[in-house]
Amino acid sequence: MDFTDQPEHTALREAVRAVTRAFGGSYFAEHAERREPTDELWRALGKQGFIGVNLPEEFGGGGGGLAELAVVCEASAAQGCPLLLLLVSSAISGEVLARYGSPAQQRTWLPAMATGESKVVFAITEPDAGSNTHKLSTTAVRDGEDWVLRGTKYYISGVDEADAILVVARTGREEATGHGLLSLFLVPTDAPGLTATPLPVAAPLPERQFTLFFDDARVGADALVGEPDHGFDQVFHGLNPERVTGAALCVGIGRYALAKAADYARNRTVWDVPIGSHQGVSHVLAKAAIEVELAALMTARAAWLHDHHQPAGEASNMAKYAAAEAALAAVDAAIQTHGGNGLSAEYGLVPLWGIARLLRIAPVNREMILNYVAQHTLDLPRSY
Ligand SMILES: Cc1cc2nc3c(=O)[nH]c(=O)nc-3n(C[C@H](O)[C@H](O)[C@H](O)COP(=O)(O)OP(=O)(O)OC[C@H]3O[C@@H](n4cnc5c(N)ncnc54)[C@H](O)[C@@H]3O)c2cc1C
Repeated sequence: MDFTDQPEHTALREAVRAVTRAFGGSYFAEHAERREPTDELWRALGKQGFIGVNLPEEFGGGGGGLAELAVVCEASAAQGCPLLLLLVSSAISGEVLARYGSPAQQRTWLPAMATGESKVVFAITEPDAGSNTHKLSTTAVRDGEDWVLRGTKYYISGVDEADAILVVARTGREEATGHGLLSLFLVPTDAPGLTATPLPVAAPLPERQFTLFFDDARVGADALVGEPDHGFDQVFHGLNPERVTGAALCVGIGRYALAKAADYARNRTVWDVPIGSHQGVSHVLAKAAIEVELAALMTARAAWLHDHHQPAGEASNMAKYAAAEAALAAVDAAIQTHGGNGLSAEYGLVPLWGIARLLRIAPVNREMILNYVAQHTLDLPRSY
């Protein structure tokens, strides 16, 4: 085993850090407070090839894997700029299209996704299905050559920034179980019959969320991604990348928050010594640092397993769980260390709390991960 950073990863981390540092935490916090997309940073990272680092070279990507995309997620977040749409456009949509997209879909979408000029967001969540994918009720029905979609998705991030949405819809029902048979569709954001309504989220995030209404939205046969009725397996190919990149984002958030907190604790003196000399401050930060670094190890392992075509579900789930918990603890400790300043707009910590808190719920909530580990790691009876 080699636990040192590969030279290419060190170079990639340093390059992403250099681009993102020019923007910095205040750039992210201001955009989050205003709910404005971080377009300038996205474009700058895209120009250098970082947004599509995991996409195939033949389509203008970097030809790397999930490990490299995780480095991009972590390194930009560690400069105070966690980019949620890396999980969505680069990780889930990118990975699914690169694996299952038709040659025409790949030629149309991947090059612009790789350079950051175009985003493809992802829609699976529904008001009445939530964590239970088997209950998805958005349907896609064949009408001649076309497909007609009907149903509602909600909390879909970044629709206003995207050119297309990778939509999970039901195209049949399994006789034995009654579970929906799923298919994936690439739906342009301006497709007739599709309406996107903003869904205000109280946590300050630069990415906006939307409810999508598919009111007999019609797409051509070429919108189907992969095989009809095989969407469940196909979407699974993207779920581990989404979890691993979510974990990487959390590791970066944790590292940024702790660096900021340690800096503050070294310099803030309200009695005779810096507040960092009180163990009530330093131990909380030290504990959070240990948890963030442990999560970083599991994140790297999960990415490695995925890239080496080995089962990565357990490690991806564990990494996402550990990293979200560690990021939240780190941001909370950083806020506490800053005292009243922890809640001020100037110090930019509350938006980091918002995204770390989101990542405990999404893309898969903490309890579903515990269910997975109980069932698959510990061989306990399925509870739901
Ligand atoms: C800001 C934001 C952005 C999002 N972006 C996207 C996006 O781009 N695309 C997309 O498709 N979705 C997106 N989502 C949706 C997100 O993925 C879901 O909210 C998440 O998967 C949880 O689903 P739910 O909200 O329906 O919760 P539910 O499934 O209703 O669960 C609610 C809670 O109940 C508990 N729970 C549920 N089931 C079980 C069980 N079996 N055992 C134990 N406990 C359980 C958990 O604590 C869970 O948090 C986003 C959400 C937010 C808030």
